Amino acid sequence: MSTAFSNTKRKFERKRLSAEHKKKLLKKQIYSKYPELEKIENELQTNAIKLAKNMFLDKESRNLHAQDAFDTLLAKRKMLLNEYNLNEHYLDSVYDCTICNDKGILDNGSLCKCFLYDLQIERAKHSGLEPFLENDCFDNFNLNLFSKEPYSNENKSSYDNMKELLSICTKYTNNFRNENKGILLLGNTGTGKSFLLHSIGRALIENNTEVLYYSAFDLVDQISQFRFSRNHDESSMLPFKNTSALIIDDLGAEIISDYSKAELLNLLDYRMNHNKNTLFSSNLSLSEISNQYGSRFTSRLLKHFYIYKCLGADLRTKL
Ligand SMILES: [Zn+2]
Repeated sequence: MSTAFSNTKRKFERKRLSAEHKKKLLKKQIYSKYPELEKIENELQTNAIKLAKNMFLDKESRNLHAQDAFDTLLAKRKMLLNEYNLNEHYLDSVYDCTICNDKGILDNGSLCKCFLYDLQIERAKHSGLEPFLENDCFDNFNLNLFSKEPYSNENKSSYDNMKELLSICTKYTNNFRNENKGILLLGNTGTGKSFLLHSIGRALIENNTEVLYYSAFDLVDQISQFRFSRNHDESSMLPFKNTSALIIDDLGAEIISDYSKAELLNLLDYRMNHNKNTLFSSNLSLSEISNQYGSRFTSRLLKHFYIYKCLGADLRTKL
């Protein structure tokens, strides 16, 4: 179970306990004011148990009688509630969400939208994307920063290229659960690769997908810290291995060594074998990646990744 999920589950357990406590107090308060209502509610409860028992034992005649008594009590309750100006669900005001009564889960076993919303916030907190979430999203992508002139030796402009990429990445994100390929974004510094990765990450979180975002530098650094710590614990690697979408920005900017290359290859292999998609960006060209990381790494990219190029001059000079 992911940290975000177990944190949200714990939060709901606490919320539920606190609501039940508030409900008890409210009940006491209302019943001390309207003792007649308490009497009816208790009788209804006893009758409901009787009805259920009879149904189980298939005692049809007794059941009819019990049903009549139950209906009379219900009518009496309705009258009292009217008289006291109380809502039918007068105890539900203690719950933040009256769809699931703060359980976070519905009777059919699916998660309530209130749970999914909190899970989204928790996932954002653990994603590493938090600093970018406010601004970096598909809707905020400013295509006007890209030139409409044909770019260098390519037969399209960086504007048209990015427009196409935006559409591809949006579709990829919407269909992420059925995708079995990762994404590799290539291109010079400042051509929008990171913004695109952040936008994909945010959209995935909004679609209730677990995301982990790291720069290649921080990822390798973090893995080294786990590996070489005195209390080395393999489970520290689990988030990198098991998160649904691992986004690694700026491949090639980390300290590249035989060790870091082996770690990255192992991680990629593990994730591919477990149907987990990884997304990369890099300033390096494919041949530079091949030179730096070797043919085994590159062959996996070629076979299991959609590879796109971001074209253009460094946008940061235009901002
Ligand atoms: Zn709910």
